[in-house]
This record gives sequence, C-alpha cells and structure tokens, in this order.
Amino acid sequence: MSTRGHLEVKNSHLVLGGVDTVTLAEQFGTPLYVTNEARIRVNYQRFKDAFPNADIYYAAKSNYNLTVLKILAEEGAGADVFSGGELHCALKAGIPSDKILFNGNSKTDAELEMAVKNNIRVSVDSLDELRTLSEIAHEHDHKAEVAFRVNPDVSPHTHPKIATGLRETKFGIPSSDVIAVYKEAQSMGDIKIVGIHCHIGSQIIDVSPFIEATKKMIDLAEELTGLGIQLEFIDLGGGLGIPYENEIAPSPKDLANAILPVFAEGLKALEIHPRLILEPGRYITADTTILLAKVNTVKHAYRNFVGVDAGFNLLIRPAMYDAYHRIIVANKAGEKSSAVYTIVGPICESGDVLARDRFLPNIEKDDLIAILDVGAYGFSMSSQYNGRPRCAELLVLDGKVDVIRRGESYDDLLSNQVFPSRFR
Ligand SMILES: *Cc1c(COP(=O)(O)O)cnc(C)c1O
Repeated sequence: MSTRGHLEVKNSHLVLGGVDTVTLAEQFGTPLYVTNEARIRVNYQRFKDAFPNADIYYAAKSNYNLTVLKILAEEGAGADVFSGGELHCALKAGIPSDKILFNGNSKTDAELEMAVKNNIRVSVDSLDELRTLSEIAHEHDHKAEVAFRVNPDVSPHTHPKIATGLRETKFGIPSSDVIAVYKEAQSMGDIKIVGIHCHIGSQIIDVSPFIEATKKMIDLAEELTGLGIQLEFIDLGGGLGIPYENEIAPSPKDLANAILPVFAEGLKALEIHPRLILEPGRYITADTTILLAKVNTVKHAYRNFVGVDAGFNLLIRPAMYDAYHRIIVANKAGEKSSAVYTIVGPICESGDVLARDRFLPNIEKDDLIAILDVGAYGFSMSSQYNGRPRCAELLVLDGKVDVIRRGESYDDLLSNQVFPSRFR
C-alpha cells in the first residue's frame, strides 16, 4: 500500500506525525479529526519558498481551527477571511490586522463596521457594498482601504460548485463595470484604493487558468494606472489543487514558474511595483489531516456497504462535490486488498457515501477507517445534522498529541436552545 508524504505504516497500523492512529482511536474515541502540525508548516514553507516576494494570505475558511491559524501566524502568514467570524478567529490567533483581507460577496453592515474598527482592508464585491462601506468609514472618521473583487471570467476547469471566476457566478464585479466602480471609489473621501483582487476557483490542477487570470489582472492594472490609481497590491486569490486521487497537480513552484514571469514583465512594462498576494487554503491544510471512523457494520447487499461512525455531517465534500478521498483501513494498513467496499456514514440520506467501490483489505466490524486529505473544507464545513455532536480534533507532532477541539456532547446539541416559558 502506498501512503503519501507524511503518512507511514508501522506494524500494519497507519501512523501520522509519529503517532499510531489505532492507539489514538482507542484513547480518544471516534470519529476523530487528526492533524499533523509538521505538515502545515511544510506546506506553508513550500508556498513561501516558491513565492519569496509575495504575501501569503491563508484562506481561513478552509480550516479556521484556532491552533491551525496560530501555527500559520507563527509561520508569518496573513489571512483571507470571508466573514466576521473568520476575522474574529484570525485576530484571536494573532494574525496582524494589516495582513488580513476581508472578502465576501454579501457582507453585513456589522461586518463592514468590524473591518473599519479593526483597520482591516476590504475586498469590495459590489457598488452597493462600496457605498455602505464609505458611509460606515465616514461615521468612524476613518479612511477605509479597499481592493475590488474582480470577476475575470476565467474558466478554471474544476467542479462547477467551486468555479468562482466565471461570468455567471455571484462573485466579483463584472469586468465591464470595474472601471466605473474604481472611478466612483476614487471620488470618495472615505475610501482609499489599494488593490485589485480575483479568485477564480478551487481545486485547480492546471496552471493555464492562473496565467489567464494574471494577464487579465495586469491589463486591469494598466487601465487603473492610467486613471492615476496607485496599486499597493494585486491579489490573485487561491485555488491551487492537490492530488486527492492520482491526479498530477502542479506544485507551488510550478505555479510560480507559470505566473511570476507574466506578473513581473507586466509590471515592468507599466513601471509600477504592487506586491503580489496569494490566498491558498486547500494547498496548506488539505493533506495535513485525516478523519478516523470506526466500522459499525459491514453489509453485503447491492454493494459491500461499510457503515462507519462519520458521515457527511463531518465531511460533506463527497456528497457536495463528488469529491474523492483516499481510504486506508488504519488497523490493517499493511494487508493486501481483497474486496471492493463502499464506505457510508450513519446519516439518514442516501447521498451519505464517503467513498465508492474501493479495493481494500477485508473489512470487519470495529475496524478503523482513515479518510485522507480532509484538512481543508472538512471540519470547517461540518454540522450537527441528525443530532450528531461534532467530534474532537487532535494535533500530532513527532509522537506528541494535543486536543485542539473537544468533542461535543449531546447537551451541546441543546446549547443556546431556549424553551419559551409556556412550555416549561
Ligand atoms: C476559498 C477562497 C480561497 C482559497 O481557495 P483554495 O482553493 O482553498 O486555495 C482564496 N480566496 C478566496 C477569496 C476564497 O474565497
């Protein structure tokens, strides 16, 4: 059996960060998210090494566990946040306010006020938002620094639900309106234009859409420079994919080789020096984490259904995006595959399938299943659907184990619920 990168097999058990996953499941129970700290740092450094002169704003939504954010803060990352909640977490984790960009297509007035009060730059997604932000900045006697989220109309060849830079998506200001919006912003006393921003999608494993987007942003920079706007940064967003199955995915270095020459030449011709910002999420966190789930039942029916104790409540990607996640039978990791299994969760929906038709070692009740590459858009998209408390998260490093989130109890399902007095 082949494992990737930081996963190892010892005595037929899957080992992560020097820790036996079978022992973890016995000690902490299942389901269980386990993250390898070393891998977060390695992934971040790979990005930083590929783009030494760029600012890396980690996309918090992919995994905003406070300890994960803290580790990235230590590494020097900034943050792309998409809500007041993510901003709150990023600030709590110690990410400096001048390295945070507040994104989002439908921000509340309260969120914009939070950005203004904390001196956070905003990537503005519409004219309405610009006008609201200007009013709020005025009330607070503040000059709000903004970029605009531009919709570059680039097709990223990814799952439609995670393509965000197409003309028909809800994100960004259409290319045709961008100049008018920048002009309006230029006339506002409470607004300072500092950048341009795009984000074309997620899980992109081909560099050509990134090149296309870079060219379009350089063209826009040229027009804006012509209007006398001084750009402090050009933010090309995130989106670099990872090999979930056996795809060939570009490395950060491959991405750098593809876009940096285009970026550098474009700027040279314009004689301007904005910084480059990139917002990787998935690349930094996806492969750092596994989800451990115990086998409750094996049912030989239309398929060989393996029922485990984690479902789309804890990992929605297979149900939502038809995503592929590799599966390892963690307590039989050294054994030969012998049958085809479909791994399903306990949720009351036929779409609750975590992995379809996988050739795996003989699976029995109480075996331990590891679902790989769940560090991005895994726990951060979890829910309590079907009355299932969210599970614990652990951090492992060189044989050490820390709890970074306690598992919820049944009573936690009731927290914040209130009986109106007539029911008491
Ligand atoms: C989601 C998102 C990202 C991160 O995307 P990944 O595919 O996880 O790298 C970056 N920027 C913005 C604006 C986003 O919405």
